[in-house]
Amino acid sequence: MSARYVGRLAPTPTGYLHLGHARTFYTAWQRAREANGTLIYRDEDIDTLRCKAEYSQAAMEDLRWLGLDWDAGPDIGGPDAPYRQSERTARYLEAWRQLKDSGFIYPSSHSRRQLRDAVESGLAQEAPANDDEQDSEAIFPTSWRPIDNAGLDTTEPGETNWRFRVPDGETLTFDDGYFGLQSFTAGTDFGDFLVWRRDGMPAYELAVVVDDIAMGVTEVVRGADLLRSTARQLLLYRALNAAPPAFYHCPLVRDESGQRLAKRSESLSLRALRENGKAAADLLQ
Ligand code: GLU
Repeated sequence: MSARYVGRLAPTPTGYLHLGHARTFYTAWQRAREANGTLIYRDEDIDTLRCKAEYSQAAMEDLRWLGLDWDAGPDIGGPDAPYRQSERTARYLEAWRQLKDSGFIYPSSHSRRQLRDAVESGLAQEAPANDDEQDSEAIFPTSWRPIDNAGLDTTEPGETNWRFRVPDGETLTFDDGYFGLQSFTAGTDFGDFLVWRRDGMPAYELAVVVDDIAMGVTEVVRGADLLRSTARQLLLYRALNAAPPAFYHCPLVRDESGQRLAKRSESLSLRALRENGKAAADLLQ
């Protein structure tokens, strides 16, 4: 018997959803329904400074307007509740502890700003952004790693950043459901990445992996801007002793000038399109 399909819709409520989100979430919904599987809605509101309840609400309304539905979520509950990341901190802390106790992560006083400066002064390398990414990837210098297990005798993350020590030179590969075979090399395509932030919040990479494991997700469908992140996440799955799901990344939607759509592309927000009399079905052609 093959495992039952479990997928998820995981918007971040920092703005109104746009046409690009609509296409990706429609694909996620369609793949779950075709597989006769379960679809979870997870509100990725972990960044309490940038996320707003108003956008969480709007995202659910807009996706329902598109004709999507889900089997578990913040509005309807479900077996893996809560479905808002802001309410799941205890689980992220547990994973932080597990990673720390097994020596996969370390505390780091170096800020993102210092990393940017290091790139400018030539101390840090930079992997160029691919077409689907917004920013190039600054590789955290290995000389900034602590020596031995310094700092691991704490029981709380405290007010410091924590990073995952990547296995330099190891190539991570996965067979993407849309883009085919992908490979990224640790230390060259990406460096030691954030798992916990000095402001007390888990970083995206950690939260998303912890939740996908806890919710039994079998296939992750999301935008192509996260292809490189998948390599980082494969390291987290391994460190947490969990089997990774399948991955299916969707091509990003671009405007006429070839720019990828961003949440600030107000005119292409689903709200604006609906108010201008567009029908949901037209958007998904
Ligand atoms: N919440 C993320 C976003 O809106 C997607 C995360 C994921 O699908 O892994 O970009």
